[in-house]
Amino acid sequence: MDTKETNVLLTLFIGLLLLGNVGSAVAVEGNSNTEDYSGNYTYFNDSVNCKSCPGSEAKIKNVIVLVPDGCSQSVQTLARWYSGNPLMLDEMVAGTVSTYSADSVITDSSSAATAFATGYKTTNGFVSVGPSNASVLSLLESPSEELQYSPLATVIEGAKLEGKATGLVATSRVSHATPAAFASHIDNRDNENEIMEQMVYEGIGVVFGGGYRHLIPEAEGGKRTDGENLTEVLLDRGYQYVDSRDEMENLSSGKTWGLFASSHMAPDIDRGELAPEEPSLAEMTGKAVELLSQDKDGFFLMVEGSQVDWANHANDPAYAVTDFLAFDEAVKVAVEFAEKDGHTLVLAFPDHNTGGMTIGSDSDSNYTSTTVEDVIDPLKGMKLSSAGVATKIGADVSFENIKAQIKAWWGIDATDNDVTEILEIYNDGEGLSLDYAISEVISRNHTVIGWTTHGHCGEDVPLWAYGPDYPAGHIDNTEIAGYIAKELGFGLNETNSCLFVEVGEFFSRDNGDGKRDENEYLLDMTNTSNPVLRIGDAELPVSKNILIKDGVSYELEGIVVYAPVTGKVYIPFEALSLINGTKPNRILRTIETE
Ligand SMILES: [Zn+2]
Repeated sequence: MDTKETNVLLTLFIGLLLLGNVGSAVAVEGNSNTEDYSGNYTYFNDSVNCKSCPGSEAKIKNVIVLVPDGCSQSVQTLARWYSGNPLMLDEMVAGTVSTYSADSVITDSSSAATAFATGYKTTNGFVSVGPSNASVLSLLESPSEELQYSPLATVIEGAKLEGKATGLVATSRVSHATPAAFASHIDNRDNENEIMEQMVYEGIGVVFGGGYRHLIPEAEGGKRTDGENLTEVLLDRGYQYVDSRDEMENLSSGKTWGLFASSHMAPDIDRGELAPEEPSLAEMTGKAVELLSQDKDGFFLMVEGSQVDWANHANDPAYAVTDFLAFDEAVKVAVEFAEKDGHTLVLAFPDHNTGGMTIGSDSDSNYTSTTVEDVIDPLKGMKLSSAGVATKIGADVSFENIKAQIKAWWGIDATDNDVTEILEIYNDGEGLSLDYAISEVISRNHTVIGWTTHGHCGEDVPLWAYGPDYPAGHIDNTEIAGYIAKELGFGLNETNSCLFVEVGEFFSRDNGDGKRDENEYLLDMTNTSNPVLRIGDAELPVSKNILIKDGVSYELEGIVVYAPVTGKVYIPFEALSLINGTKPNRILRTIETE
């Protein structure tokens, strides 16, 4: 063994010592103190470690997580009245989940999804990166410098390293907050071009939803400003790419992306009228399960009923209840598979509530004698979402047209007062859209459904579960990630150590002497929309899983993540050995962290 090789091994060894502490350094003391509820207020929860649960891996091989975005118990009740039948979810009530984020009692979808995808609380708007130290809730400690803005490994990334198949299904753009948090790392949920790029290079087995505009460059009619065509990248990487329900139904195996709308997919209630070629959430879920379950190592799948949230933002009860029932159908598909399989855990829970829906409202003076018909009849007449009605109204916001479209699509005779109220809300400068104005006023004046906000709410949400083993009682949203990781046989700390090594811990910044030594790195921003990390003579494009050295391109097991606020860059551990000219060493993953 020559000196250089010894140095490499020494570096790796020291790295392991350092990395082993990443997770534990941020865990907050007091978790074991059951008397002290402050123990619940932590950023990270990996309390269920696989080592303490022998045999659990054998029992559960697959996990399906289903999230009806932005709702709570009230929509479950309303959906049961509306359908006249028990829901699949009724049989699965297991507990409740707290949802607060690092900086607010009221979470947004990206920080909520970060919690259940990574086990960490983060700042609203952040996507699977550590919180900033601004506006931290008084119950939480200020996050360590190491944690701030650092990428956090997700259960999809962990499952993939375990050799499992992985999938994401949503009815929003797949680059939207909830799916984004499972497959990208960025401090701004609105940067969907960057999110989509990371998602493509994450190597997820099946992705179904909306949002193909973020795969395609502006010059070709898409939204990408970096000139890249990610559809071509997918095809180069052996994916099938489909964009209609028929094409999706014809798939029988293989890695697949199916994006069925340029932006979001249609609300379930609008699909028949406005987008009949789009598959339902249950159809996408069924196909994803069919494809993923062919992997003998098992799979992890996340399914989001993305638009229950938007319905509740709009205060639109028919849109909410129909999208929730479409979600319940998807849950049924997952549970039917789990029943047959016997080794599948199904977990469902909203990420937070939205709209503050109540059954009964203070605009209804006869509430003590509310009948079933009072509740459901107005909703049964609604054949489009309020957004769909607004689309039908178009630019003609006259009294006559508004009344005519509400009558045509909602079966409701809007009064002059209703329309006056709608137009007042629409034009009052608060920025509420026409669909919000319509559903707010019609809900108030023609239904018994009450609403308290057009925004999110901070209360607990229900936890629904099915499987051989599942969490029960009241849990925090961060605990869900640790539970999934435990059941699938990996640790989130270990996954973090494996995927996100901060480059500055191993290499020094280029000293600007005109040559780059092998231990120096530089973030090359020559092409600002496609930055490249250069370490010695190796190149690692940001947001991709590629390392190029000596003319050879390697696919890494994780992506390169750049955190602009701190200037730090993170690379998978295996890149270190490639950079130093030794073979990638997967064995490093099994090193224990005490
Ligand atoms: Zn949400």
